[in-house]
Amino acid sequence: MIEIQNLCKTYQTGSVKVNALKDVNLTVEDGHFIAVMGPSGSGKSTFMNILGLLDHPTDGSYLLDEVDTRSLDEYRLAAVRNRKIGFVFQNFNLLPRLSAQRNVELPLFYAGVAANERRALAAAALERVGLLSHIDHRPNELSGGQRQRVAIARAIINHPSILLADEPTGNLDSASSYEIMTLFQELHRQGSTIILVTHEPEIAQHAGRIVHFRDGSLVKNEKVESPLDAR
Ligand code: ADP
Ligand code: ADP
Repeated sequence: MIEIQNLCKTYQTGSVKVNALKDVNLTVEDGHFIAVMGPSGSGKSTFMNILGLLDHPTDGSYLLDEVDTRSLDEYRLAAVRNRKIGFVFQNFNLLPRLSAQRNVELPLFYAGVAANERRALAAAALERVGLLSHIDHRPNELSGGQRQRVAIARAIINHPSILLADEPTGNLDSASSYEIMTLFQELHRQGSTIILVTHEPEIAQHAGRIVHFRDGSLVKNEKVESPLDAR
């Protein structure tokens, strides 16, 4: 469970201060699917970076599974991040010269997992996203939607409890976007907690709840009565 209380983030550049997050409160229970919306500059990325333990708040608290993240040093933050959090990006962030399998294995490679086990886990993750048949393809041999599936397989290879996705459909056409959102819903049904930034209202309708940011404040938190496509 994620418990955010009175979270503030101030950036200081020279004498200029920007209050990127102001007194944000949010609880996300395990297994929930939240869409984050808001205009450019409203604090969404800052919020996601803090949730992903990539950045520190200036004030307020962030409890992850009842652990106050302020009590963790950089080493433990990295350990928690690797174990519990998967990241999906707008630009996929795949390495162009590596096959789907090798891209998906990358987190395990850095963790020192043996090659056979890496291969087996990568195949299992690619199967979960419906791309086992493309295991040897390089990114330039895949469509945008397929590239994002590979990136999602990489994000879930360690079975993280939380998936953080920043505009995952931002570079996709509407048919691929829809497919990717159906995949996120499938992962949600299997128990993942998902927090997904989008500026497209139709995309947000796939989530169970939508939170809206404006000028660094969380201004609205609404339940989606019947999430698009939920079966
Ligand atoms: P969004 O993701 O909603 O577009 P951001 O979280 O990127 O919003 O930005 C929120 C505010 O914080 C903006 O005013 C932005 O200019 C500022 N900001 C973001 N990152 C930095 C940074 N590293 N240094 C200084 N200001 C920043
Ligand atoms: P709450 O109102 O308790 O905060 P949510 O609005 O997050 O709960 O979700 C209500 C229920 O709907 C939960 O059981 C959640 O698992 C389910 N749910 C949320 N999003 C989806 C979705 N996209 N597809 C299917 N079920 C969903």
